[in-house]
Amino acid sequence: MGRAPNNPKPTYPPLTPPLGGVELSRHVASLCRDAGFVAAGFAPAARSKWGPFLRGWLEAGRHGTMDYLARDNDLREEPARVLSGTKSFIVVADQYAPRGSELPDRSREERPLGRVARYAQGRNYHEEMKKRLHALADRLREEVPGSGFRTCIDTVPILEREIAVAAGLGWQGRNTLLIHPTLGSYLLLGVVATTLELPPLDDQRMVTDHCGTCTRCIDACPTRAITPYSVDASRCISYLTIEHREAIDAGFHEAIGDWVYGCDVCQEVCPHNSGRTFETPRHVAYEANIPWLDLIDVLAWNAAARQLAFKASPMKRANLDMMRRNAAIALGNVLRETNDSAVRAALERYRDDDSAMVREAVRHALGEA
Ligand code: SF4
Ligand code: SF4
Repeated sequence: MGRAPNNPKPTYPPLTPPLGGVELSRHVASLCRDAGFVAAGFAPAARSKWGPFLRGWLEAGRHGTMDYLARDNDLREEPARVLSGTKSFIVVADQYAPRGSELPDRSREERPLGRVARYAQGRNYHEEMKKRLHALADRLREEVPGSGFRTCIDTVPILEREIAVAAGLGWQGRNTLLIHPTLGSYLLLGVVATTLELPPLDDQRMVTDHCGTCTRCIDACPTRAITPYSVDASRCISYLTIEHREAIDAGFHEAIGDWVYGCDVCQEVCPHNSGRTFETPRHVAYEANIPWLDLIDVLAWNAAARQLAFKASPMKRANLDMMRRNAAIALGNVLRETNDSAVRAALERYRDDDSAMVREAVRHALGEA
């Protein structure tokens, strides 16, 4: 391996002797570790077992307005079709928040603040994972001539969690999230389809369901979105604040509390995210740059202010009016609790806002609708 002065991209000779079987898996696993992933495993290309569940979930409208989830189900059911000749999936995980992570105390703040889901507090995970997975695939293409790869990070319709379970990274909990036995569930998953045959590592095992008789996530969910092993996305605060691009049904406003982007409640209450048993560091890319947002500021944002605040942030997924709508809903909850005159004045300025979804949220927050 060498780095030529005018060529910043490293090159890698073919592996000699060529590796195969579990030795190749060990090599790929060590590259994943070197790339900073906290866990890695391999799953064989196999048909999804979740097809009938997924079809029923969609038919019941649990996907809300996320119509893209109703498309490409043939790929979700047969994920090997994402790349011709797929034999295996490489599955990796980044830890975006440590087990037991607490949000900073905000009780002394004078202005009302909105909570941000932990995965969105740092840099954009799509970019962070993609660049490391692309580098991994580029290297393996050179080391194993003729091999093929396709990186899948939310952009390709596959059921990452099912594939991660098959790769021994954890089990899918009652809240539907992947839970690693020692790392918990504050994990971002990345999948690479490959034509390489990568058998399981010697210590790779399917992890059995450790939820036991626990129902904490179901009991704690503010909008009653969880039934065992299923989330009704159309009721979930993450969907409502990030994906739903219209007015949010007033029946959900109070339950949204102070969440302005996403929700972590079903992970915060999960005993497998407790910090008491294991210490796990977060990957440096996900340092909490924006753990809170000033709600009065967000309600007043224009396009430039949002762009500045969300530079390199995954929160760009929510457009300006969605963020202002979310802020108005959270401010309404503050107003109900405190009757604070500054909060009321901030909301009153936007009673006749140009955006229908902001207007509706503001008027409901003021108790007028
Ligand atoms: S993210 Fe929040 S609203 Fe969604 S299922 Fe979990 S606890 Fe419920
Ligand atoms: S809170 Fe309990 S039931 Fe829910 S995912 Fe965690 S262990 Fe499973």
